[in-house]
Amino acid sequence: METVADYFGSLVFNDAVMRERLPKDIYKALKRTVEEGKDLDINVANSVANAMKTWALEKGCTHYTHWFQPMTGITAEKHEAFISPMEGGKVLLEFSGKELIKGEPDASSFPSGGLRATFEARGYTAWDPTSYAFIKDDTLCIPTAFCSYSGEVLDKKTPLLRSMEAISTEALKIIKLFGTDAKRVITTVGPEQEYFLINKSDYARRKDLIYTGRTLLGARAPKGQEMEDHYFGALRTRVSEYMQDLDRELWKLGIYAKTSHNEAAPCQHELAPIFTTTNIAVDNNQLTMEIMKKVAERHGFACLLHEKPFAGVNGSGKHNNWSLSTDRGTNLLEPGDSPKDNAQFLLFLVAVLKAVDEYQDLLRMSIASAGNDHRLGANEAPPAIVSVFLGDELTEILDAIAEGKPVTGRTKEKMQLGVHVLPAIPKDTTDRNRTSPFAFTGNKFEFRMLGSSFSVAEPNTVLNTIVAKELKEFYGILSVASDFTSAVNDLVRDTYIAHRRIVFNGNNYSSEWVAEAERRGLLNLSSSPEAYDTLLSPKNIELFNEFGIYSSVELHSRYEILNDEYSKTIHIEALTMIDMINRQVLPAVMDFSGEIAKGISYKRSAMPEMKTDAENERLAEVEGLENYLYKAVKELEKGVALAADYSGASLAHYYRNSILPLMDDVRSYCDALELIVGQKYWPYPTYGEMLFYV
Ligand code: ADP
Ligand code: MG
Repeated sequence: METVADYFGSLVFNDAVMRERLPKDIYKALKRTVEEGKDLDINVANSVANAMKTWALEKGCTHYTHWFQPMTGITAEKHEAFISPMEGGKVLLEFSGKELIKGEPDASSFPSGGLRATFEARGYTAWDPTSYAFIKDDTLCIPTAFCSYSGEVLDKKTPLLRSMEAISTEALKIIKLFGTDAKRVITTVGPEQEYFLINKSDYARRKDLIYTGRTLLGARAPKGQEMEDHYFGALRTRVSEYMQDLDRELWKLGIYAKTSHNEAAPCQHELAPIFTTTNIAVDNNQLTMEIMKKVAERHGFACLLHEKPFAGVNGSGKHNNWSLSTDRGTNLLEPGDSPKDNAQFLLFLVAVLKAVDEYQDLLRMSIASAGNDHRLGANEAPPAIVSVFLGDELTEILDAIAEGKPVTGRTKEKMQLGVHVLPAIPKDTTDRNRTSPFAFTGNKFEFRMLGSSFSVAEPNTVLNTIVAKELKEFYGILSVASDFTSAVNDLVRDTYIAHRRIVFNGNNYSSEWVAEAERRGLLNLSSSPEAYDTLLSPKNIELFNEFGIYSSVELHSRYEILNDEYSKTIHIEALTMIDMINRQVLPAVMDFSGEIAKGISYKRSAMPEMKTDAENERLAEVEGLENYLYKAVKELEKGVALAADYSGASLAHYYRNSILPLMDDVRSYCDALELIVGQKYWPYPTYGEMLFYV
């Protein structure tokens, strides 16, 4: 019988395949390029391309594509057949080194935030040899970065790679001071992915799901998630078959899909992979989302990745587990058991605290989207306030260091980092605060604010860069210290004292925390447009310039794209809602009220003294709501027309402040009607039908 080991990674041109198929010197040259981040020699590229082509053809491929991640957040590909014409009507199958390393998709339809207007219209894609090529739909996919001709980035991958370099450089300098040996420091990520599965036939009958990914209308079903019977519950057979099929497809692509379970809301599930190097984790997560949708089709499901597909039950997020490790496999966020390791660990820990405190705005910005705005602060996801959970043990240790007191249960003298051993920090007690946006979970941080449909590239670019910034500053202090041990001690203590306001171990869902956070001076950016506005502050522009992650021009372009994307999302939602109300809901309601009215007149003509109290009252109720709904949808139409007066960030704010409330009004009347209009009249599947299918 074929086992997982037989087909795991069978669709990936990975290290083992390269070792087997490339001439030894070529393999070595390629490895060196990857490890040292050098440019690829054309002769090496030709040889690699040839081996890749042969391998792909053997696996039945006919096409290749440069697979890239434009700023839309999804992946893009343009397929080219391997064929070249030959004399006598025959074909030659070709793929050169040049085609491997550089592609020229027509960039004009990807968002560039003004970059294309200012610079070259065209862009090119360049192979990222640190990420393996793979096969999808009989096509050889080559992971690439995407740039404009003048070098401005047009994708999410390039800045991420730059940020990984930056943090590697800075972290290396620090660990060398501690005498830790390594060539590279790698950031690792394990993104836990939430999603919904509903019947495809229901999906196909809802224009809102089709056009916007979420339900814009829909009354609560009699049952929601209050019984708490779904989380980790037994899987429906069809769902379990889906998950098995999905795992198999992901394993073939070398993705370590590891854990699957039911989530809190009905029809909600989660998939967690084993963590890996950040850029690979990003690629893998993009692929995972794509394959999730594709496999769903085969099983008669639609897979919903939107952050808030259904009101009233939990939405979906993505937990971004993040750590740093050396190329020798030492996790730098793992508390050590020697004085030296502990001091190094605490230094990295406070670097993260300082980074999160000083760049709360950027972290918040990196996860902002129209979809995610429905989750943050809604008692199901972290609030929009960024804070760090450390757990009681670590907090106690840091408090003791700050106050110069002995650490509980230890010797009476005060703790000296690099000299004394820390008390052990039990791993399992650090992970029990599910409400925290940024939690230390024993040997990694879990950034929990991400939306389910997100590319994890941007949040990790920010995270890597802000931590690199703090490490660089630390190095400046430590590298000139005369007494290294006490300098580390002072630095940890002073940094913690200066940034302890960002630490919060309590319930992030409580209203007390909102007040407390305000008292502490923490930011509370409740909507995406507000969060986007922080991107261009001088301190943030300086940060990205300093590490060569984004130039000012690139940041301005991002800002434009983010606002644009937000406005377009709400615009489409508003138009979809107007369409559904005008062409589906109002006609259904009118039919229903017409039937009641007819019924009353039939009864009366048959027997004038017959009682029609129920009909009269229901009719009045329906008529009342129907008229409110009609007026509300007219207001929404007017509001959408007025959007023409705005542009850029002001348009995004307009959609947020003026259109969303109008949509809420429409929804409230429509949902009230849904609860009293006859079932057979209602034009699309209800929450109950979608979420509790059999
Ligand atoms: P949960 O958050 O549900 O308790 P786990 O603790 O099992 O889940 O782990 C969640 C994710 O964290 C997994 O994807 C796992 O691979 C990842 N993870 C574990 N260690 C690291 C690490 N050092 N760096 C990045 N991610 C990690
Ligand atoms: Mg988690």
